[in-house]
Formats: sequence, structure tokens, C-alpha cells
Amino acid sequence: MDDCLFCRIREGKIPAEKVHEDELVFAIKDINPQAPTHLLIIPHKHQETLMELETADRETIGTVFTVAGKLARERGLDKSGFRVVANCGSGAGQSVWHIHFHLLGGRGMKWPPG
Ligand code: AMP
Ligand code: ZN
Repeated sequence: MDDCLFCRIREGKIPAEKVHEDELVFAIKDINPQAPTHLLIIPHKHQETLMELETADRETIGTVFTVAGKLARERGLDKSGFRVVANCGSGAGQSVWHIHFHLLGGRGMKWPPG
């Protein structure tokens, strides 16, 4: 997808600080962090929103959460707590149309989110 920001980052055409990569997902530092730790865990496969997920994507989505746990533990967030969240649709605040999961931690979190 030529016009997709996260596909271009995956291909190395746009720079980003990668903190993880495997055969199914990669993770980068968010360019506009909303917490001391703000990472994005991004499946390699281009799908615009969570609504496009199919049964075949189960391993990828499972990997997102095991990678989130690994990245959180590496940063000591397993002790302090962290949040993993995906925005689906513009009404929920999605701005990049390639599925991604925010990993946020290092500060107190309120519930419900705004
Ligand atoms: P969302 O609004 O849920 O679609 O999240 C998109 C996220 O991508 C936002 O938190 C942005 O700060 C982040 N973002 C936008 N451009 C870049 C970039 N070039 N590198 C890293 N993160 C980015
Ligand atoms: Zn994409």
C-alpha cells in the first residue's frame, strides 16, 4: 500500500524507531507520545480497521498481545501497569488506516478513556 504510513515504515521508506520485529508484527515508538512509554504494535499485513480481521488473523492478533507483554516487561510496566488499546474508526480516534495497537504506560491511567 503505497499511501499507507505504516506500510511505508514497515518497508523502511519512512524512518521510525523500531523496538521489535518478527514475522507477523513490528513495534515502533509513537511520534507523539501520550505517556512516558507509548509504543505502536503493528501487524505487517495491511488491513484498515479491526473490522477486516478474519479467523486467519488469530495468530497475528495473539502475537500482538504476547509482544505487548514482552515490551511492557522489558520496561518494568508489568509492575506499574499499562494499557493496550486499538481505536477502530474515526469516531474512536483512529487516524492511521492500518490496524495498530497502542501500548501506553509509565503514568497513571484513568478509566473510562476520553
Ligand atoms: P490512531 O489515532 O489510533 O490511528 O493512532 C495513530 C498513531 O500514530 C498516533 O498516536 C500518532 O501519533 C502515530 N503516528 C503518526 N505518524 C507517525 C510516525 N511517522 N511515526 C510514529 N508514529 C506515528
Ligand atoms: Zn498499511
